Amino acid sequence: MKGLLAALARRYGTPLYVYDAAVVRDRYRALQGAFTRPALVCYALKANSSRAVASVLAREGAGADIVSGGELGRALRAGFRPSRVVFSGVGKTEAEMTAGLRAGVKAFNVESSEELDALARVAGRLGKRAPVSIRLNPDINAKTHPHITTGRAENKFGVETGEALALYRRAAQDRRLRVTGLQCHIGSQITSLTPYARAAAAVARLAASLKAQGIPLDFADVGGGLGITYKDERPLDPRALVKTLEAAFAGQPELELLVEPGRYLVADAGLLLTAVLYRKRTSKRRFVIVDAAMTDLPRPALYDAWHPVMVVAPRKGKKTMADVVGPVCESGDFLARQRPLPPLERGDLLAVLKAGAYGFAMSSQYNSRPRAAEVLVDGGKSRLARRRETYRDLTRGEL
Ligand SMILES: *Cc1c(COP(=O)(O)O)cnc(C)c1O
Repeated sequence: MKGLLAALARRYGTPLYVYDAAVVRDRYRALQGAFTRPALVCYALKANSSRAVASVLAREGAGADIVSGGELGRALRAGFRPSRVVFSGVGKTEAEMTAGLRAGVKAFNVESSEELDALARVAGRLGKRAPVSIRLNPDINAKTHPHITTGRAENKFGVETGEALALYRRAAQDRRLRVTGLQCHIGSQITSLTPYARAAAAVARLAASLKAQGIPLDFADVGGGLGITYKDERPLDPRALVKTLEAAFAGQPELELLVEPGRYLVADAGLLLTAVLYRKRTSKRRFVIVDAAMTDLPRPALYDAWHPVMVVAPRKGKKTMADVVGPVCESGDFLARQRPLPPLERGDLLAVLKAGAYGFAMSSQYNSRPRAAEVLVDGGKSRLARRRETYRDLTRGEL
């Protein structure tokens, strides 16, 4: 591991994202394999839309959960079958709906009455029937970070039960639409079964009531959000989660069950490799200035997220507390704060772990920093998955 990381840094430079395909496959198989009835694991592409990572899951037979036309293109190029792609998002444009319909996606997760109208219009124009699943907002607290809670009545996502019923009735009578499923997604980095059990119960209840009103569904989708361990969180066992879901839908064996995990599948599979540029001290702090920044991994700056930091080849000597910071002109530009680190020299390598989800995907060119390169390691072989951006990439498209 140590030797491989040093070799990759020499070959491709830093900052560098390194992904392990085996970890992605293990996570997928653990979740998919836990189901005892027809089920589809739809990878939420927004967690890491790199083709190398996404295609590992496409080859496993996974579905995809997309939130934009850009992700539709990426999903298809990565090899996901359109019939396994669900199109989420609170603000799909008519152009995006058109692309999704032409591609033949499994369903549009519709989030408002006006969106349902727009989808029907687009489908009518194309002479197609749009597969519809309504996103329910069950008003459940996922007990996670406020920025990643999505299933409360004060969040912009989904529609409440009463309105969902009305939308289904309307959709069932519109020949341009085909009612196919029911979806919800209550948040991210969830580490307790209770909110899932509540959300599944709400979805199951509404599905049963729709069936009683002559509107049967093909699938029930409880969204993503499975948490992982960054520091000391106790993550959900995928088998326990599946057991809970299957119990909630035991009375409706005809429903295919969908889940939409992103982070769970890819977070542990990725790390961000960075080199020490400089060391400095103030009267209050020891700083390690590295060549990766909030532009490469924004989670610490955005959510005050904690990622483990590993020194690739630690030197002997006493560990002292240090802040690992990047070159960007913001005090919020840090990767880790107050960590016990051994003595470091310029050029030493650090690996920021558990960075496979919402890492590169959220990266930016702020401060005119070209984005990092990405490498995929698979079965002892490594290959460049995305080349490092150049200064020309920074100005491409400027007129
Ligand atoms: C972000 C998102 C997901 C995935 O969330 P994770 O926490 O990464 O599992 C799933 N479904 C929808 C609709 C999303 O917006």
